[in-house]
Amino acid sequence: MSQLIAKRILLKISGEQLAGEFEGGIDPKTGLWLAQQLTPVFKNKVEIVIVVGGGNFARGARLAGHGIKRVTADHVGMLGTMMNALALTDIFEYNHLPTRCLSSIFAEQVAEPFIHRLANKHLEKGRIVIIAGGIGRPFLTTDTAAVSLALELNCQVVLKATKVNGVFNKDPEKYPDAVKINKMTFAQAVEDHNIKVMDKAALGLAMEYKLPIIILDAMKNQALYQTIVQQSIEGTIVS
Ligand code: UDP
Repeated sequence: MSQLIAKRILLKISGEQLAGEFEGGIDPKTGLWLAQQLTPVFKNKVEIVIVVGGGNFARGARLAGHGIKRVTADHVGMLGTMMNALALTDIFEYNHLPTRCLSSIFAEQVAEPFIHRLANKHLEKGRIVIIAGGIGRPFLTTDTAAVSLALELNCQVVLKATKVNGVFNKDPEKYPDAVKINKMTFAQAVEDHNIKVMDKAALGLAMEYKLPIIILDAMKNQALYQTIVQQSIEGTIVS
């Protein structure tokens, strides 16, 4: 009998990850890979919420300037998350994963609205819920949206997908001698300036409500299944 890490989980995927081999935009092959990685998790009756980033299209902090207001830039960023969420929803459904895209920004022609009860209903009916538009307000990132939405939807854990498999004492892409930290407290994660793997606002919110976060390389074969279904965690647990 499998030992699920949680009945309901939230997975945060960045736009950069969805770009896969491309420099920007969406690489459908990455979406397909993710669908394949999540299929055995889904078959184990885990309720899955996905929050997608939009950094492969735009990030508000970078886009603002030369007349573009920060609020507008964040709106553009949120629309980027929408493009990712729509594409991923189709890829998931094509791969036999019942999925609904719910949007935190008004977009009735392209997605259902994010409504707490509706999201719960889809999850209870065994559908994956992909959330577009983060939390629908500017001056935030999808990391913070992920924690907030996980709390709202009663997810017991947030899985934050990163390029590397967890938190390291220094950048493992620059320093081959970097050491992975298996477990850390919220206080350590918030206070350590070298830890840039997740927004401090997101970590602070998770700390306040004691919502554990697992940082992992979700694109590594079987990593999601092993973590969620087999409780074999290779990444870093922040709790
Ligand atoms: N964004 C926002 N409010 C939200 C979520 C996202 O304003 O609730 C905007 C913000 O500009 C952000 C962009 O959307 O930079 C894309 O999200 P994020 O940077 O988190 O994407 P990721 O880095 O995960 O791909």
